[in-house]
Amino acid sequence: MDLRTPLASLPGVGLAVAKKLARLNLVTVEDLIRHYPFRYDDFSEQKSISTAKVGEIVTFCGQIWSIKNAYTKFRKVLTQAILNDSTGTIEIVWFNQPWLAKNLAPGDKIQVSGKVNRKGPRITLVSPVWEKTSFEDNFSDQGLHTGRLVPIYPETWGLTSKWLRQKISNLLPKALPLITDPLPSTVTKNLLPLHQALKQIHFPQNHHQAQEAKKRLSFDELFYIQLNALYQKQQWQNKGVVEPLKIEEGKIKEFLQKLPFQLTSAQERVIQEILQDLQKGFPMNRLLQGEVGSGKTVVAAAIIYSIYLNKLKSVVMAPTEILAFQHHQTLSKLLNPYGVEVGIYTGSKKSIAPHLIVGTHALLSNKLITDNVGLVVIDEQQRFGVEQRSLLRHKTCSPHFLTMTATPIPRTVALTLYGDLDLSIIDEMPPGRKIVRTHFVPKGKRADSYKFIESEVKKGHQVYIITPLIEPSETNGSAKAARVEFERLQKNTFPDLKLGLLHGKLKSREKEAAISDFKNGKTQILVSTSVVEVGVDVPRATIMVIEGAEHFGLAQLHQLRGRVGRGDEQSFTFLFAEEETPSVVRRLKNLETIHQGLALAELDLKIRGSGEIFGTMQSGRWNLKIASFNDLSLIESARSTAQKFLLSSSNLDKHPHITSKLLGQAAKIMPD
Ligand code: ADP
Ligand code: MG
Repeated sequence: MDLRTPLASLPGVGLAVAKKLARLNLVTVEDLIRHYPFRYDDFSEQKSISTAKVGEIVTFCGQIWSIKNAYTKFRKVLTQAILNDSTGTIEIVWFNQPWLAKNLAPGDKIQVSGKVNRKGPRITLVSPVWEKTSFEDNFSDQGLHTGRLVPIYPETWGLTSKWLRQKISNLLPKALPLITDPLPSTVTKNLLPLHQALKQIHFPQNHHQAQEAKKRLSFDELFYIQLNALYQKQQWQNKGVVEPLKIEEGKIKEFLQKLPFQLTSAQERVIQEILQDLQKGFPMNRLLQGEVGSGKTVVAAAIIYSIYLNKLKSVVMAPTEILAFQHHQTLSKLLNPYGVEVGIYTGSKKSIAPHLIVGTHALLSNKLITDNVGLVVIDEQQRFGVEQRSLLRHKTCSPHFLTMTATPIPRTVALTLYGDLDLSIIDEMPPGRKIVRTHFVPKGKRADSYKFIESEVKKGHQVYIITPLIEPSETNGSAKAARVEFERLQKNTFPDLKLGLLHGKLKSREKEAAISDFKNGKTQILVSTSVVEVGVDVPRATIMVIEGAEHFGLAQLHQLRGRVGRGDEQSFTFLFAEEETPSVVRRLKNLETIHQGLALAELDLKIRGSGEIFGTMQSGRWNLKIASFNDLSLIESARSTAQKFLLSSSNLDKHPHITSKLLGQAAKIMPD
């Protein structure tokens, strides 16, 4: 056996089981060893029966006195057993496992773990986990499924944690000697040795051991990701030597001063960060993050202007044609007065100009445009692929890259997923923006909201009502929820108003009609799933109602809220919840006071973990296997260790074990 031995060839693993394992992406021996538990059942409290208290989770070790099957009124099978230790007896019941009465017999010694329940004056254990023991004196050993911290694994239908646990415990002693730690001790100092970590992650003696194991394995995961990112960055900077640009500060200053508004200090700061990059001898690769409306375009304009002053060409790429047209218009207005000539290049419209071309992906197909470019600005496309980048590379060097995004990406996530990019953040909105007033509305006050909505509509305002996301991928269910709510509201709540309906299951013609009816004011209320199209911009819409708000992440609610507050009127967001538990209410009320997408995304990460983030990033699901995006200090330490390692071993080829891991990681970090 070696680490790459297929699990299917192991004794006790038939083809059927191998298929189930494959559903968990477990194919080789190493895969299974590295299938980590996501939590532990704490069955480490071992007690004598006479001292047990109701409600405790305990482990008893004793002898079976009697065991038999019984049938309930509803013809369910109950297995009843009496367990005795030297201090007393307790009744045990299992449901629907009639074979237990055959597997276990009076006289057998077993260890059981579970929660103590009350049954009249006596106590019982209901459906405890059990295993036979060969222990002579009680608790001399811990057992595998009972009497310890018991690992619980990601499971699949027909493959239980108990099965996985058993297999892993059989395999570990044979597999561990085959694993060599590719990381030198300078990298892993203060952390557990790899072997110990792998053993302890599965079978820790206590929580501390589990934590230490998790820390080592998380570090490894983050280290490889960081090393890969830094290595990419190094390659990028080495290959693409460029002439440092001259920054004509006086002219830039004049340009900024003549704007019709004063820059926020955040805008000023990021402009300086970017201008510094341009003066270096290698191409910039920077991510500019800032909410919708935070003023990223004018930052780009200032940079484009300094590129122009260096007699170089810029290209701006937008994800859609509509956005490209919009950028073309804005940038022309800002830059024409300074002699910058701006062209457009999309699928349907092509007019080339010498200094700046704005367009869509269509740009990439035209060599003439992409040759000799000094700066590429990419709007909302942080995952612009490597191949596309290389299209824009010249023979010897590469243009500077500025990627702009309104998606709030928490710092730890950005450091990890975009570790090869430098990060600038506009964390301040231009002054005078109206904040969308947000209220969590308890069930009892819902009628008041509907009244308020009616009065707003009478004033000529419009309303979005978003129906809940039932399951992130369940478009069918969400469409149905929208339809049902639409009918209910039209019939019962707003019989005198005109409602429209929008969801992903409509034909595109029907979608367009629903949107244009709302835009033209033919419908006053638009009932929609959360897929309110990006293009929907209706300044008269002043109210956003979100049903089942607890099903959404905070950052996503914030994005939905951004659909209103686009005109001069005061706008409102009402959050309704189906289940008003204290934790739901507390979470949603954050939106009443926090009006920054990034802060809300950070909160999401803390409260609900990383799944939420990828919902708003729309850039492919990407999950860490064991490390957590909440662990800033470990992420930073992995990053600085990787930095040191890369500096001290200028040639990674000397570490073939590590580079082979890097390639594996690189494949994983590229989401779809
Ligand atoms: P985004 O970051 O979403 O791309 P834009 O660049 O489109 O935002 O800016 C949104 C609006 O705010 C534009 O009309 C722009 O002219 C204006 N704006 C940008 N910066 C400022 C500022 N410092 N003060 C006032 N208005 C500004
Ligand atoms: Mg923009």
